[in-house]
Amino acid sequence: MQGLMQDWPLLVHRIIDHAALNHGEREVVTRSVEGPIRRTTYANIHSRARSVAKGLTDLGIEFGDVVATMAWNTDRHLEAWYGIMGIGAVCHTVNPRLFPEQITYIMNHAEDKVMFVDTTFLSTLEGIKDKLPLLKYVIVLTDKANMPETTLDNALCYDEWVAKYDDDFAWASFDENTAAGLCYTSGTTGNPKGVLYSHRSNVLHSMCGAGSDVMGLRAMDAILPVVPMFHANAWAITFAAPASGSKIVMPGSQMDGQSIYELLNTEKVSTTAAVPTVWLGLLNYLEENDLKLPHLNKVVIGGSACPQVMIEKFEKNYGVEVVHAWGMTETSPIGTICSLKPGMEDWDADRKIKQKLKQGRVPFSVEMKITDDDGNDLPRDGVAFGHLKVRGPAIVKAYLKGEGGDVLDEDGWFDTGDVATIDELGYMQITDRSKDVIKSGGEWISSIEIENIAVGHPEVAEAAVIGIAHPKWDERPLLIIVPAEGKSPSKEDILKFLEGKIAKWWTPDDVTFVEELPHTATGKIQKLTLREQFGDYKLPTA
Ligand code: AMP
Repeated sequence: MQGLMQDWPLLVHRIIDHAALNHGEREVVTRSVEGPIRRTTYANIHSRARSVAKGLTDLGIEFGDVVATMAWNTDRHLEAWYGIMGIGAVCHTVNPRLFPEQITYIMNHAEDKVMFVDTTFLSTLEGIKDKLPLLKYVIVLTDKANMPETTLDNALCYDEWVAKYDDDFAWASFDENTAAGLCYTSGTTGNPKGVLYSHRSNVLHSMCGAGSDVMGLRAMDAILPVVPMFHANAWAITFAAPASGSKIVMPGSQMDGQSIYELLNTEKVSTTAAVPTVWLGLLNYLEENDLKLPHLNKVVIGGSACPQVMIEKFEKNYGVEVVHAWGMTETSPIGTICSLKPGMEDWDADRKIKQKLKQGRVPFSVEMKITDDDGNDLPRDGVAFGHLKVRGPAIVKAYLKGEGGDVLDEDGWFDTGDVATIDELGYMQITDRSKDVIKSGGEWISSIEIENIAVGHPEVAEAAVIGIAHPKWDERPLLIIVPAEGKSPSKEDILKFLEGKIAKWWTPDDVTFVEELPHTATGKIQKLTLREQFGDYKLPTA
């Protein structure tokens, strides 16, 4: 027997309809790429998104076409994003931090027909334009006064273009499984692969992301997504915030400590989200200038493991709750979130912080498990670690155009490539990427845990641990340190600092110092490059 409820396809433009009608006055505040702060509302975003939809239709864009954006988090980007998806076209958010060759590859692979681009990235596009035969129009996200000279012969000025169209446009209606968004993985090995989100997966995921134990978004909140829209849909915030009626504060291109602090303060931001590097910049700025965070309640930290010292500083020095989260482009991206469970509120501060070092538990709509190399399930005891696998309605089932082949096992599990433990209460902790695992005498050493502790040393800015070949143990850990500005810690200092905090046999066999570490386009340490760089390294113990 079928249920007798309405067929109301889960389409993302219903989110901006809802925001315009019920929270139309709620502000969207942007630090514009041109500089000044700009203020608009959900009602205006909705109206301009429909003008974008009308304009794209006029440019010949049809249902199923792919339209790219290469842009910072701004109000204009939000208008384009809803306008594109609202006609059943696919919004391909290009990560501008990829190399030009990779951008060329993914734009051709995705078959982008139009691109909305910030002035910041115009020169990148000019440099590759001859290799993009499918790209018909480029719409520069600025106004007439700031429209730069360009060698692109098909460039339009966004504000002028959008002003030509009124908002008398009815969104298209279609199946909720239609593709809505496209985001390529950063491709540390081989070419980047396309993750194609559907309207249904995005709507379900934004409801999950807004949930109280996830980001806990309410109409009362003001949220600042520092995490870019080109990094897995700004962790669902650009859907979840309008769905909840929360004010959005967009940082534009400025993500340094001072700029972020100014927005947090003047816009009375209650919740914010970004990778650890951004928070390092903010914490340094706060400390140097003796500032506080009176309005901020919650900071969501993910993308890389959140170091203990960061949780301690936010919670103890600034009274801001840290919510550690894990996810991937392939998981839309929220996979787990470290919100506490009943009983834990009575734990002492240090025990709570220890728990928050874990990447957390799954919200409803994500299933997870760990397995050994042969695919056998491992226990949830917080000790056994194995391959982390996930399932759910907002998790990838295949990459665009079948790249990478079958990515699910016969039971529908997606292997994340991460290695983790899960404890009795369902809290997952990442120990490594499977490619980065260090195997010493047949046992695994968690590079992430050592790095995490090492960055707690006051004279350390960044740390990475890689495995180096060893004649007796196969591999032993090498700790690579970027010293904090103006500091020069010694190997002995660092090893002493680790003493008692990790198992003795995990102690790195050597410590070396570098000026900087290589990073991927999403800000993660590039271990592959480090392993190549230190390929001939001889450990003193070898
Ligand atoms: P991306 O698709 O670029 O977002 O990268 C996803 C990968 O980032 C995951 O598979 C993890 O390896 C890593 N990652 C994300 N969040 C965390 C976290 N909180 N702790 C450790 N690693 C993380």
